Amino acid sequence: MPPACLNFSLMRFSLSQANPTMASGSNSLMWFRKGIRLHDNPALEYAARGSDFVYPVFVIDPHYMDPDPNAFSPGSKLAGLNRIRFLLESLVDLDFNLKKIGSRLLVLKGEPSEVLSRCLNEWRISKLCFEFDTEPYYQALDKKVKNHASAAGVEIYSPVSHTIFNPLDIIQKNGGKPPLSYQSFIKLAGKPSWASSHISDEITWLPPVGSVGNCMISEVPSMKELGYEDKEEDERTPFKGGESEALKRLRESISNNEWVANFEKPKGDPSSFLKPATTVLSPYLKFGCLSSRYFYQCIQDVQRDVKKHTSPPVSLLGQLLWREFFYTVAFGTPNFDQMKDNKICKQIPWKYDDELLVAWRDAKTGFPWIDAIMVQLQKWGWMHHLARHCVACFLTRGDLLVHWEMGRDVFERLLIDSDWSINNANWMWLSCSSFFYQYNRIYSPISFGKKYDPKGNYIRHFLPMLKDMPDEYIYEPWTAPRNVQVKAKCIIGKDYPKPVVDHKSASKECKQLFHEAYELNKRLNGKVNEEGLKDLRRKFEEVEREQEPKSKKLKQKLIG
Ligand code: FAD
Repeated sequence: MPPACLNFSLMRFSLSQANPTMASGSNSLMWFRKGIRLHDNPALEYAARGSDFVYPVFVIDPHYMDPDPNAFSPGSKLAGLNRIRFLLESLVDLDFNLKKIGSRLLVLKGEPSEVLSRCLNEWRISKLCFEFDTEPYYQALDKKVKNHASAAGVEIYSPVSHTIFNPLDIIQKNGGKPPLSYQSFIKLAGKPSWASSHISDEITWLPPVGSVGNCMISEVPSMKELGYEDKEEDERTPFKGGESEALKRLRESISNNEWVANFEKPKGDPSSFLKPATTVLSPYLKFGCLSSRYFYQCIQDVQRDVKKHTSPPVSLLGQLLWREFFYTVAFGTPNFDQMKDNKICKQIPWKYDDELLVAWRDAKTGFPWIDAIMVQLQKWGWMHHLARHCVACFLTRGDLLVHWEMGRDVFERLLIDSDWSINNANWMWLSCSSFFYQYNRIYSPISFGKKYDPKGNYIRHFLPMLKDMPDEYIYEPWTAPRNVQVKAKCIIGKDYPKPVVDHKSASKECKQLFHEAYELNKRLNGKVNEEGLKDLRRKFEEVEREQEPKSKKLKQKLIG
Protein backbone atom coordinates (compact mmCIF):
# COMPACT_ATOMS: atom_id res chain seq x y z
CA MET A 1 0.00 0.00 0.00
CA PRO A 2 1.70 3.31 -1.04
CA PRO A 3 1.76 6.10 1.56
CA ALA A 4 -1.02 8.67 1.31
CA CYS A 5 1.32 11.37 -0.09
CA LEU A 6 2.12 9.03 -2.98
CA ASN A 7 -1.55 8.43 -3.63
CA PHE A 8 -1.73 12.12 -4.37
CA SER A 9 0.73 11.89 -7.25
CA LEU A 10 -0.90 8.70 -8.52
CA MET A 11 -4.26 10.38 -8.76
CA ARG A 12 -2.93 13.20 -10.96
CA PHE A 13 -4.42 13.27 -14.39
CA SER A 14 -4.02 15.32 -17.53
CA LEU A 15 -6.75 17.71 -18.58
CA SER A 16 -5.75 17.41 -22.22
CA GLN A 17 -8.15 14.49 -22.46
CA ALA A 18 -10.94 16.60 -21.06
CA ASN A 19 -10.24 19.62 -23.23
CA PRO A 20 -8.40 18.95 -26.45
CA THR A 21 -8.24 22.61 -27.58
CA MET A 22 -4.58 23.58 -27.84
CA ALA A 23 -4.00 27.12 -26.72
CA SER A 24 -2.89 29.35 -29.57
CA GLY A 25 -3.90 33.00 -29.02
CA SER A 26 -3.20 35.09 -25.97
CA ASN A 27 -2.85 32.87 -22.92
CA SER A 28 -2.50 34.04 -19.31
CA LEU A 29 -1.40 32.23 -16.22
CA MET A 30 -2.86 33.41 -12.92
CA TRP A 31 -0.66 32.15 -10.09
CA PHE A 32 -2.56 32.04 -6.78
CA ARG A 33 -0.45 32.05 -3.58
CA LYS A 34 -2.18 34.29 -1.07
CA GLY A 35 -5.05 36.29 -2.60
CA ILE A 36 -7.18 33.12 -2.68
CA ARG A 37 -10.30 34.91 -3.90
CA LEU A 38 -12.22 36.16 -6.89
CA HIS A 39 -13.36 39.51 -5.48
CA ASP A 40 -10.98 42.46 -5.72
CA ASN A 41 -8.28 40.49 -7.43
CA PRO A 42 -6.48 42.83 -9.86
CA ALA A 43 -4.02 40.16 -10.99
CA LEU A 44 -6.90 37.87 -11.99
CA GLU A 45 -8.77 40.71 -13.69
CA TYR A 46 -5.67 41.58 -15.70
CA ALA A 47 -5.12 37.92 -16.61
CA ALA A 48 -8.67 37.78 -17.98
CA ARG A 49 -8.41 40.97 -20.03
CA GLY A 50 -7.99 40.23 -23.75
CA SER A 51 -7.01 36.61 -23.14
CA ASP A 52 -8.30 33.59 -25.02
CA PHE A 53 -7.44 31.25 -22.17
CA VAL A 54 -6.67 31.79 -18.50
CA TYR A 55 -4.89 29.11 -16.47
CA PRO A 56 -5.65 29.57 -12.74
CA VAL A 57 -2.83 27.76 -10.95
CA PHE A 58 -1.96 26.87 -7.39
CA VAL A 59 1.37 25.14 -6.73
CA ILE A 60 1.65 22.81 -3.76
CA ASP A 61 5.07 23.93 -2.53
CA PRO A 62 6.88 21.12 -0.67
CA HIS A 63 8.69 23.80 1.36
CA TYR A 64 5.34 24.66 2.95
CA MET A 65 3.23 21.55 2.53
CA ASP A 66 5.32 18.39 2.94
CA PRO A 67 4.76 16.58 6.26
CA ASP A 68 7.60 16.96 8.76
CA PRO A 69 7.72 14.09 11.27
CA ASN A 70 10.32 15.97 13.37
CA ALA A 71 8.21 19.05 14.05
CA PHE A 72 6.88 19.51 17.60
CA SER A 73 3.27 19.17 16.44
CA PRO A 74 1.71 17.30 13.51
CA GLY A 75 2.02 19.23 10.28
CA SER A 76 4.67 20.42 7.86
CA LYS A 77 7.96 22.12 8.66
CA LEU A 78 6.21 25.49 8.76
CA ALA A 79 2.55 24.93 9.54
CA GLY A 80 0.39 22.92 11.92
CA LEU A 81 -2.60 20.86 10.75
CA ASN A 82 -5.20 23.57 11.37
CA ARG A 83 -3.53 26.00 8.98
CA ILE A 84 -2.86 23.39 6.31
CA ARG A 85 -6.52 22.34 6.42
CA PHE A 86 -7.62 25.98 6.33
CA LEU A 87 -5.54 26.48 3.18
CA LEU A 88 -6.96 23.36 1.49
CA GLU A 89 -10.51 24.45 2.35
CA SER A 90 -9.74 27.84 0.85
CA LEU A 91 -8.51 26.19 -2.36
CA VAL A 92 -11.57 23.95 -2.60
CA ASP A 93 -13.76 27.03 -2.26
CA LEU A 94 -11.74 28.90 -4.89
CA ASP A 95 -12.08 25.96 -7.28
CA PHE A 96 -15.84 25.85 -6.62
CA ASN A 97 -16.21 29.58 -7.29
CA LEU A 98 -14.05 29.36 -10.43
CA LYS A 99 -16.19 26.50 -11.74
CA LYS A 100 -19.30 28.67 -11.29
CA ILE A 101 -17.85 31.07 -13.86
CA GLY A 102 -16.68 28.48 -16.34
CA SER A 103 -13.14 27.95 -15.11
CA ARG A 104 -11.38 25.74 -12.55
CA LEU A 105 -8.30 25.62 -10.37
CA LEU A 106 -5.28 23.72 -11.69
CA VAL A 107 -3.23 22.26 -8.84
CA LEU A 108 0.38 21.30 -9.47
CA LYS A 109 3.07 20.10 -7.11
CA GLY A 110 6.77 20.95 -6.91
CA GLU A 111 9.23 23.77 -6.43
CA PRO A 112 7.13 26.69 -7.73
CA SER A 113 9.71 28.34 -10.00
CA GLU A 114 10.40 25.02 -11.74
CA VAL A 115 6.73 24.12 -12.05
CA LEU A 116 5.88 27.55 -13.44
CA SER A 117 8.74 27.50 -15.95
CA ARG A 118 7.34 24.29 -17.37
CA CYS A 119 3.80 25.63 -17.50
CA LEU A 120 4.80 28.90 -19.16
CA ASN A 121 6.47 26.93 -21.88
CA GLU A 122 3.90 24.19 -22.30
CA TRP A 123 0.90 26.52 -22.37
CA ARG A 124 2.58 29.22 -24.46
CA ILE A 125 1.78 31.82 -21.85
CA SER A 126 2.12 35.47 -22.81
CA LYS A 127 1.02 37.02 -19.48
CA LEU A 128 1.99 35.83 -16.00
CA CYS A 129 -0.08 37.45 -13.24
CA PHE A 130 0.35 37.13 -9.48
CA GLU A 131 -0.12 39.28 -6.41
CA PHE A 132 2.93 41.15 -5.10
CA ASP A 133 4.20 39.66 -1.84
CA THR A 134 6.45 41.41 0.66
CA GLU A 135 7.64 38.30 2.56
CA PRO A 136 11.34 37.44 2.13
CA TYR A 137 10.51 33.90 0.93
CA TYR A 138 8.32 35.24 -1.88
CA GLN A 139 10.66 38.11 -2.69
CA ALA A 140 13.40 35.56 -3.45
CA LEU A 141 11.09 33.14 -5.25
CA ASP A 142 9.43 35.87 -7.31
CA LYS A 143 12.79 37.15 -8.45
CA LYS A 144 13.61 33.71 -9.84
CA VAL A 145 10.20 33.37 -11.51
CA LYS A 146 10.37 36.86 -12.99
CA ASN A 147 13.85 36.31 -14.38
CA HIS A 148 12.76 33.17 -16.11
CA ALA A 149 9.52 34.67 -17.43
CA SER A 150 11.25 37.82 -18.71
CA ALA A 151 13.90 35.77 -20.48
CA ALA A 152 11.09 33.85 -22.17
CA GLY A 153 9.45 37.11 -23.27
CA VAL A 154 6.44 36.70 -20.95
CA GLU A 155 4.73 39.86 -19.68
CA ILE A 156 4.60 40.01 -15.87
CA TYR A 157 1.86 41.71 -13.91
CA SER A 158 2.30 41.67 -10.14
CA PRO A 159 0.05 44.27 -8.45
CA VAL A 160 -0.12 45.16 -4.75
CA SER A 161 -3.48 43.91 -3.47
CA HIS A 162 -2.71 42.07 -0.25
CA THR A 163 -2.52 45.40 1.56
CA ILE A 164 -4.46 48.65 1.36
CA PHE A 165 -1.34 50.72 0.66
CA ASN A 166 1.79 49.90 -1.27
CA PRO A 167 4.49 49.61 1.44
CA LEU A 168 7.08 50.80 -1.07
CA ASP A 169 5.17 54.06 -1.71
CA ILE A 170 5.07 54.81 2.02
CA ILE A 171 8.76 54.06 2.42
CA GLN A 172 9.61 56.31 -0.53
CA LYS A 173 7.43 59.10 0.85
CA ASN A 174 9.42 58.81 4.07
CA GLY A 175 12.78 59.27 2.36
CA GLY A 176 13.57 55.58 1.90
CA LYS A 177 12.95 54.46 5.48
CA PRO A 178 9.81 52.95 6.96
CA PRO A 179 7.97 55.13 9.50
CA LEU A 180 8.47 53.68 12.97
CA SER A 181 5.35 54.91 14.70
CA TYR A 182 1.70 54.27 13.90
CA GLN A 183 0.93 57.99 13.95
CA SER A 184 3.66 58.87 11.47
CA PHE A 185 2.50 55.99 9.28
CA ILE A 186 -1.08 57.33 9.28
CA LYS A 187 0.12 60.81 8.36
CA LEU A 188 2.22 59.54 5.48
CA ALA A 189 -0.36 57.06 4.22
CA GLY A 190 -3.31 59.47 3.91
CA LYS A 191 -6.11 58.06 1.76
CA PRO A 192 -5.50 54.95 -0.36
CA SER A 193 -4.90 55.74 -4.05
CA TRP A 194 -7.90 53.62 -5.06
CA ALA A 195 -10.29 55.22 -2.50
CA SER A 196 -12.40 57.11 -5.06
CA SER A 197 -13.04 54.03 -7.22
CA HIS A 198 -15.34 51.18 -6.24
CA ILE A 199 -13.71 47.88 -5.27
CA SER A 200 -15.36 45.01 -7.16
CA ASP A 201 -16.92 42.43 -4.89
CA GLU A 202 -17.33 39.78 -7.57
CA ILE A 203 -16.05 38.61 -10.91
CA THR A 204 -18.72 37.10 -13.17
CA TRP A 205 -16.76 35.76 -16.08
CA LEU A 206 -13.37 34.30 -16.94
CA PRO A 207 -11.97 33.02 -20.25
CA PRO A 208 -11.87 29.21 -20.25
CA VAL A 209 -8.90 27.07 -19.25
CA GLY A 210 -6.93 25.92 -22.29
CA SER A 211 -5.37 22.52 -22.83
CA VAL A 212 -2.86 21.57 -20.15
CA GLY A 213 -0.78 19.44 -22.51
CA ASN A 214 1.74 17.34 -20.61
CA CYS A 215 1.57 19.26 -17.33
CA MET A 216 0.30 16.97 -14.61
CA ILE A 217 -2.46 18.67 -12.75
CA SER A 218 -4.84 17.49 -10.05
CA GLU A 219 -7.86 18.44 -8.00
CA VAL A 220 -7.21 20.10 -4.63
CA PRO A 221 -5.71 17.27 -2.54
CA SER A 222 -7.17 16.16 0.77
CA MET A 223 -5.15 16.17 4.01
CA LYS A 224 -4.73 12.43 3.62
CA GLU A 225 -3.49 12.74 0.07
CA LEU A 226 -0.84 15.15 1.30
CA GLY A 227 0.26 12.55 3.82
CA TYR A 228 -1.45 13.90 6.96
CA GLU A 229 -3.35 12.03 9.58
CA ASP A 230 -5.99 14.67 10.33
CA LYS A 231 -7.35 15.50 13.78
CA GLU A 232 -10.80 14.30 14.84
CA GLU A 233 -13.58 16.71 13.83
CA ASP A 234 -14.09 18.03 17.39
CA GLU A 235 -10.36 18.73 17.80
CA ARG A 236 -10.23 20.98 14.73
CA THR A 237 -10.39 24.76 14.58
CA PRO A 238 -14.00 25.96 14.36
CA PHE A 239 -12.99 28.39 11.57
CA LYS A 240 -13.38 27.11 8.05
CA GLY A 241 -11.24 28.42 5.21
CA GLY A 242 -12.37 30.07 1.98
CA GLU A 243 -13.60 33.24 0.33
CA SER A 244 -17.29 32.29 0.74
CA GLU A 245 -16.83 31.89 4.49
CA ALA A 246 -14.78 35.13 4.64
CA LEU A 247 -17.47 37.19 2.92
CA LYS A 248 -20.18 35.64 5.08
CA ARG A 249 -18.20 36.50 8.22
CA LEU A 250 -17.50 40.00 6.97
CA ARG A 251 -21.19 40.61 6.24
CA GLU A 252 -22.16 39.35 9.69
CA SER A 253 -19.61 41.66 11.33
CA ILE A 254 -20.47 44.80 9.42
CA SER A 255 -24.25 44.25 9.38
CA ASN A 256 -24.23 45.57 12.94
CA ASN A 257 -23.55 49.27 12.31
CA GLU A 258 -23.53 50.09 15.98
CA TRP A 259 -20.95 47.40 16.76
CA VAL A 260 -18.65 48.68 14.01
CA ALA A 261 -19.14 52.32 15.04
CA ASN A 262 -18.34 51.59 18.70
CA PHE A 263 -15.48 49.12 18.12
CA GLU A 264 -12.71 50.04 20.49
CA LYS A 265 -9.59 47.98 21.03
CA PRO A 266 -8.10 47.07 23.46
CA LYS A 267 -11.56 47.06 25.07
CA GLY A 268 -13.25 43.70 24.53
CA ASP A 269 -13.23 40.47 26.45
CA PRO A 270 -10.30 38.13 25.61
CA SER A 271 -12.00 35.26 27.43
CA SER A 272 -15.17 35.40 25.35
CA PHE A 273 -14.65 32.28 23.25
CA LEU A 274 -18.23 31.33 22.32
CA LYS A 275 -18.76 34.73 20.75
CA PRO A 276 -15.35 36.31 20.09
CA ALA A 277 -15.18 40.03 20.82
CA THR A 278 -13.49 40.81 17.49
CA THR A 279 -14.21 39.83 13.87
CA VAL A 280 -11.94 36.72 13.53
CA LEU A 281 -11.24 37.84 9.98
CA SER A 282 -7.46 37.57 10.44
CA PRO A 283 -7.07 34.06 8.95
CA TYR A 284 -9.06 35.17 5.89
CA LEU A 285 -6.91 38.29 5.52
CA LYS A 286 -3.78 36.20 5.95
CA PHE A 287 -4.60 33.95 3.00
CA GLY A 288 -6.28 36.78 1.11
CA CYS A 289 -9.64 34.98 1.11
CA LEU A 290 -10.81 38.45 2.08
CA SER A 291 -9.42 41.57 0.43
CA SER A 292 -8.21 44.11 3.00
CA ARG A 293 -9.19 46.83 0.53
CA TYR A 294 -12.76 45.52 0.30
CA PHE A 295 -12.90 45.23 4.10
CA TYR A 296 -11.67 48.85 4.36
CA GLN A 297 -14.32 50.03 1.89
CA CYS A 298 -17.10 48.20 3.79
CA ILE A 299 -16.06 49.81 7.09
CA GLN A 300 -15.98 53.23 5.43
CA ASP A 301 -19.51 52.64 4.09
CA VAL A 302 -20.75 51.86 7.62
CA GLN A 303 -18.96 54.87 9.09
CA ARG A 304 -20.58 57.15 6.52
CA ASP A 305 -24.01 55.92 7.65
CA VAL A 306 -23.57 56.54 11.39
CA LYS A 307 -23.47 59.79 13.34
CA LYS A 308 -20.47 58.97 15.51
CA HIS A 309 -17.79 56.35 15.39
CA THR A 310 -14.47 55.51 17.00
CA SER A 311 -11.21 56.43 15.23
CA PRO A 312 -7.77 54.88 14.68
CA PRO A 313 -5.85 53.45 16.42
CA VAL A 314 -8.72 51.88 18.41
CA SER A 315 -11.46 51.62 15.73
CA LEU A 316 -12.00 48.63 13.43
CA LEU A 317 -10.49 50.64 10.57
CA GLY A 318 -7.62 51.39 12.92
CA GLN A 319 -6.98 47.64 13.31
CA LEU A 320 -6.57 47.28 9.56
CA LEU A 321 -4.14 50.18 9.66
CA TRP A 322 -2.05 48.37 12.30
CA ARG A 323 -1.72 45.62 9.75
CA GLU A 324 -0.61 48.15 7.12
CA PHE A 325 1.84 49.78 9.47
CA PHE A 326 3.50 46.48 10.38
CA TYR A 327 3.64 45.37 6.73
CA THR A 328 5.42 48.59 5.85
CA VAL A 329 7.98 48.40 8.64
CA ALA A 330 8.58 44.69 7.98
CA PHE A 331 9.15 45.31 4.27
CA GLY A 332 11.59 48.15 4.90
CA THR A 333 13.62 46.59 7.73
CA PRO A 334 16.41 44.12 6.97
CA ASN A 335 16.43 41.10 9.31
CA PHE A 336 13.02 42.06 10.67
CA ASP A 337 12.44 38.51 11.93
CA GLN A 338 15.43 38.38 14.27
CA MET A 339 17.07 40.34 17.05
CA LYS A 340 20.58 40.20 15.58
CA ASP A 341 21.39 42.79 12.92
CA ASN A 342 17.89 44.21 13.20
CA LYS A 343 18.24 47.98 13.59
CA ILE A 344 14.85 48.52 15.18
CA CYS A 345 15.22 45.74 17.75
CA LYS A 346 16.66 46.22 21.23
CA GLN A 347 19.42 43.79 22.13
CA ILE A 348 18.34 41.85 25.21
CA PRO A 349 20.18 38.90 26.85
CA TRP A 350 17.27 36.50 26.41
CA LYS A 351 17.37 32.91 27.63
CA TYR A 352 17.33 30.00 25.20
CA ASP A 353 15.68 27.76 27.77
CA ASP A 354 14.01 24.78 26.10
CA GLU A 355 12.45 23.52 29.30
CA LEU A 356 10.65 26.80 29.98
CA LEU A 357 9.70 27.11 26.33
CA VAL A 358 8.17 23.63 26.27
CA ALA A 359 6.26 24.26 29.54
CA TRP A 360 4.79 27.39 27.94
CA ARG A 361 4.17 25.81 24.53
CA ASP A 362 2.53 22.69 25.94
CA ALA A 363 0.27 24.59 28.38
CA LYS A 364 2.11 23.38 31.47
CA THR A 365 3.17 26.61 33.16
CA GLY A 366 0.84 26.01 36.10
CA PHE A 367 -0.88 29.37 35.49
CA PRO A 368 -4.36 28.41 34.26
CA TRP A 369 -4.97 31.70 32.41
CA ILE A 370 -1.74 31.26 30.42
CA ASP A 371 -2.24 27.54 29.85
CA ALA A 372 -5.85 27.91 28.71
CA ILE A 373 -4.75 30.44 26.07
CA MET A 374 -2.05 28.06 24.85
CA VAL A 375 -4.61 25.25 24.56
CA GLN A 376 -6.83 27.56 22.55
CA LEU A 377 -3.84 28.20 20.28
CA GLN A 378 -3.24 24.46 19.80
CA LYS A 379 -6.91 23.62 19.26
CA TRP A 380 -8.26 26.65 17.44
CA GLY A 381 -5.19 28.37 16.01
CA TRP A 382 -6.77 31.67 17.00
CA MET A 383 -6.95 33.68 20.23
CA HIS A 384 -8.12 37.18 21.08
CA HIS A 385 -5.49 39.90 20.75
CA LEU A 386 -5.21 40.50 24.52
CA ALA A 387 -4.87 36.78 25.17
CA ARG A 388 -1.91 36.80 22.76
CA HIS A 389 -0.53 39.78 24.72
CA CYS A 390 -0.69 37.85 27.97
CA VAL A 391 1.10 34.71 26.80
CA ALA A 392 3.74 36.59 24.79
CA CYS A 393 4.49 38.89 27.72
CA PHE A 394 4.64 35.93 30.12
CA LEU A 395 7.15 34.01 27.99
CA THR A 396 9.42 37.00 27.41
CA ARG A 397 9.69 40.15 29.50
CA GLY A 398 6.97 39.37 32.04
CA ASP A 399 8.16 36.16 33.67
CA LEU A 400 10.32 33.65 31.82
CA LEU A 401 12.75 35.84 29.87
CA VAL A 402 12.77 33.36 26.98
CA HIS A 403 13.78 34.77 23.59
CA TRP A 404 10.86 36.24 21.64
CA GLU A 405 12.03 34.43 18.51
CA MET A 406 11.30 31.08 20.21
CA GLY A 407 7.75 32.13 21.08
CA ARG A 408 7.32 33.63 17.63
CA ASP A 409 8.15 30.25 16.08
CA VAL A 410 5.44 28.53 18.10
CA PHE A 411 2.83 31.11 17.05
CA GLU A 412 4.08 31.01 13.46
CA ARG A 413 3.43 27.30 13.31
CA LEU A 414 0.14 27.06 15.18
CA LEU A 415 -1.83 30.20 14.35
CA ILE A 416 -4.24 29.88 11.44
CA ASP A 417 -3.69 33.60 10.83
CA SER A 418 0.11 33.28 11.14
CA ASP A 419 1.49 36.20 9.20
CA TRP A 420 5.21 36.89 8.82
CA SER A 421 5.05 40.69 9.14
CA ILE A 422 2.35 40.93 11.80
CA ASN A 423 3.59 38.09 13.98
CA ASN A 424 7.19 39.29 14.12
CA ALA A 425 6.08 42.86 14.75
CA ASN A 426 3.78 41.91 17.60
CA TRP A 427 6.39 39.67 19.22
CA MET A 428 8.84 42.55 19.18
CA TRP A 429 6.14 44.79 20.60
CA LEU A 430 5.15 42.45 23.41
CA SER A 431 8.73 41.65 24.38
CA CYS A 432 9.54 45.40 24.52
CA SER A 433 12.14 44.84 21.82
CA SER A 434 10.65 47.42 19.47
CA PHE A 435 7.64 49.77 19.04
CA PHE A 436 6.69 49.63 22.75
CA TYR A 437 9.14 50.16 25.58
CA GLN A 438 7.22 50.32 28.86
CA TYR A 439 8.74 47.19 30.33
CA ASN A 440 7.33 48.00 33.78
CA ARG A 441 3.81 47.35 32.52
CA ILE A 442 3.45 43.61 32.88
CA TYR A 443 0.31 41.49 32.42
CA SER A 444 -0.36 39.52 35.57
CA PRO A 445 -1.00 35.87 34.70
CA ILE A 446 -3.40 35.82 37.67
CA SER A 447 -5.37 39.05 37.93
CA PHE A 448 -5.63 40.07 34.25
CA GLY A 449 -7.98 37.29 33.14
CA LYS A 450 -9.94 37.49 36.40
CA LYS A 451 -11.12 41.02 35.50
CA TYR A 452 -13.03 39.67 32.50
CA ASP A 453 -13.98 36.21 33.65
CA PRO A 454 -14.07 35.96 37.47
CA LYS A 455 -15.62 32.49 37.40
CA GLY A 456 -12.96 31.18 35.03
CA ASN A 457 -15.35 29.76 32.41
CA TYR A 458 -12.68 30.15 29.73
CA ILE A 459 -10.17 28.21 31.83
CA ARG A 460 -12.71 25.48 32.64
CA HIS A 461 -13.48 25.06 28.93
CA PHE A 462 -9.90 24.76 27.71
CA LEU A 463 -8.46 23.05 30.81
CA PRO A 464 -11.15 20.52 31.75
CA MET A 465 -8.99 19.07 34.58
CA LEU A 466 -9.74 22.31 36.45
CA LYS A 467 -13.45 22.37 35.73
CA ASP A 468 -14.49 21.62 39.32
CA MET A 469 -12.02 23.96 41.00
CA PRO A 470 -13.92 26.54 43.11
CA ASP A 471 -14.02 30.08 41.67
CA GLU A 472 -11.70 31.52 44.33
CA TYR A 473 -8.87 29.19 43.31
CA ILE A 474 -9.39 28.89 39.57
CA TYR A 475 -6.66 31.42 38.71
CA GLU A 476 -4.26 30.17 41.44
CA PRO A 477 -5.10 26.50 42.01
CA TRP A 478 -1.81 25.88 43.87
CA THR A 479 -3.24 27.97 46.73
CA ALA A 480 -6.24 25.64 47.15
CA PRO A 481 -6.03 23.56 50.36
CA ARG A 482 -5.44 19.86 49.79
CA ASN A 483 -9.01 18.87 50.67
CA VAL A 484 -10.34 21.35 48.08
CA GLN A 485 -8.01 19.89 45.45
CA VAL A 486 -9.20 16.38 46.32
CA LYS A 487 -12.84 17.43 46.07
CA ALA A 488 -12.17 19.13 42.72
CA LYS A 489 -10.43 15.92 41.52
CA CYS A 490 -7.39 17.95 40.60
CA ILE A 491 -4.23 17.54 42.66
CA ILE A 492 -1.74 20.27 41.85
CA GLY A 493 1.57 18.74 40.86
CA LYS A 494 -0.19 15.59 39.65
CA ASP A 495 -3.29 16.40 37.63
CA TYR A 496 -2.23 19.94 36.84
CA PRO A 497 1.31 21.41 37.15
CA LYS A 498 2.68 23.61 39.89
CA PRO A 499 3.61 27.12 38.69
CA VAL A 500 6.95 27.26 36.86
CA VAL A 501 7.87 30.53 38.55
CA ASP A 502 6.74 32.74 41.36
CA HIS A 503 5.23 35.57 39.32
CA LYS A 504 6.02 38.32 41.79
CA SER A 505 9.73 37.66 42.04
CA ALA A 506 10.10 36.61 38.38
CA SER A 507 8.54 39.81 37.08
CA LYS A 508 10.70 41.87 39.46
CA GLU A 509 13.83 40.20 38.08
CA CYS A 510 12.63 40.82 34.53
CA LYS A 511 12.20 44.53 35.20
CA GLN A 512 15.66 44.69 36.72
CA LEU A 513 17.22 43.02 33.72
CA PHE A 514 15.35 45.26 31.34
CA HIS A 515 16.51 48.33 33.17
CA GLU A 516 20.14 47.24 32.74
CA ALA A 517 19.67 46.12 29.15
CA TYR A 518 17.95 49.35 28.10
CA GLU A 519 20.74 51.37 29.73
CA LEU A 520 23.34 49.43 27.78
CA ASN A 521 21.41 49.82 24.51
CA LYS A 522 21.20 53.56 25.19
CA ARG A 523 24.88 53.90 26.06
CA LEU A 524 25.98 52.02 22.95
CA ASN A 525 23.34 53.55 20.71
CA GLY A 526 21.81 50.13 20.06
CA LYS A 527 25.13 48.62 18.96
CA VAL A 528 25.32 45.97 21.66
CA ASN A 529 27.51 43.07 20.58
CA GLU A 530 27.62 39.43 21.71
CA GLU A 531 30.16 40.27 24.43
CA GLY A 532 27.96 43.01 25.86
CA LEU A 533 25.00 40.64 25.95
CA LYS A 534 27.10 37.95 27.63
CA ASP A 535 28.25 40.40 30.32
CA LEU A 536 24.67 41.40 31.00
CA ARG A 537 23.58 37.79 31.21
CA ARG A 538 26.40 37.00 33.66
CA LYS A 539 25.46 39.96 35.81
CA PHE A 540 21.85 38.94 35.73
CA GLU A 541 22.60 35.33 36.65
CA GLU A 542 24.40 36.64 39.72
CA VAL A 543 21.30 38.59 40.72
CA GLU A 544 19.22 35.46 40.10
CA ARG A 545 21.55 33.38 42.29
CA GLU A 546 21.41 35.96 45.07
CA GLN A 547 17.63 36.02 44.96
CA GLU A 548 17.22 32.28 44.52
CA PRO A 549 16.96 31.28 48.19
CA LYS A 550 14.42 34.05 48.72
CA SER A 551 12.28 33.18 45.72
CA LYS A 552 12.56 29.44 46.40
CA LYS A 553 11.27 29.97 49.92
CA LEU A 554 8.43 32.08 48.61
CA LYS A 555 7.58 29.50 45.98
CA GLN A 556 7.60 26.69 48.52
CA LYS A 557 5.27 28.71 50.68
CA LEU A 558 2.97 29.25 47.70
CA ILE A 559 2.90 25.75 46.33
CA GLY A 560 3.20 23.90 49.60
P1 FAD B 1 -9.93 42.43 14.65
O1 FAD B 1 -9.78 43.14 15.93
O2 FAD B 1 -11.31 42.13 14.19
O3 FAD B 1 -9.16 43.30 13.59
C1 FAD B 1 -9.39 43.24 12.17
C2 FAD B 1 -8.08 42.97 11.47
O4 FAD B 1 -7.11 43.96 11.78
C3 FAD B 1 -7.42 41.67 11.90
O5 FAD B 1 -8.00 40.58 11.27
C4 FAD B 1 -5.98 41.90 11.53
O6 FAD B 1 -5.75 41.67 10.17
C5 FAD B 1 -5.81 43.39 11.81
N1 FAD B 1 -5.22 43.56 13.14
C6 FAD B 1 -5.84 43.59 14.33
N2 FAD B 1 -4.95 43.77 15.33
C7 FAD B 1 -3.74 43.84 14.75
C8 FAD B 1 -2.43 44.01 15.24
N3 FAD B 1 -2.15 44.18 16.53
N4 FAD B 1 -1.42 44.00 14.36
C9 FAD B 1 -1.65 43.87 13.04
N5 FAD B 1 -2.86 43.70 12.52
C10 FAD B 1 -3.91 43.69 13.36
N6 FAD B 1 -2.30 38.85 13.70
C11 FAD B 1 -2.24 38.18 12.54
O7 FAD B 1 -3.08 38.42 11.66
N7 FAD B 1 -1.28 37.24 12.34
C12 FAD B 1 -0.34 36.94 13.29
O8 FAD B 1 0.55 36.10 13.06
C13 FAD B 1 -0.40 37.62 14.53
N8 FAD B 1 0.48 37.34 15.53
C14 FAD B 1 0.39 38.03 16.72
C15 FAD B 1 1.32 37.74 17.73
C16 FAD B 1 1.24 38.40 18.95
C17 FAD B 1 2.26 38.11 20.02
C18 FAD B 1 0.23 39.34 19.17
C19 FAD B 1 0.12 40.07 20.47
C20 FAD B 1 -0.68 39.65 18.16
C21 FAD B 1 -0.61 39.02 16.93
N9 FAD B 1 -1.50 39.31 15.88
C22 FAD B 1 -1.43 38.61 14.70
C23 FAD B 1 -2.36 40.51 15.93
C24 FAD B 1 -3.77 40.33 16.45
O9 FAD B 1 -3.78 39.66 17.68
C25 FAD B 1 -4.69 39.61 15.47
O10 FAD B 1 -4.60 40.21 14.20
C26 FAD B 1 -6.15 39.70 15.90
O11 FAD B 1 -6.32 39.22 17.20
C27 FAD B 1 -6.98 38.89 14.94
O12 FAD B 1 -8.31 38.82 15.35
P2 FAD B 1 -9.45 39.56 14.54
O13 FAD B 1 -9.39 39.24 13.10
O14 FAD B 1 -10.73 39.25 15.24
O15 FAD B 1 -9.05 41.10 14.74
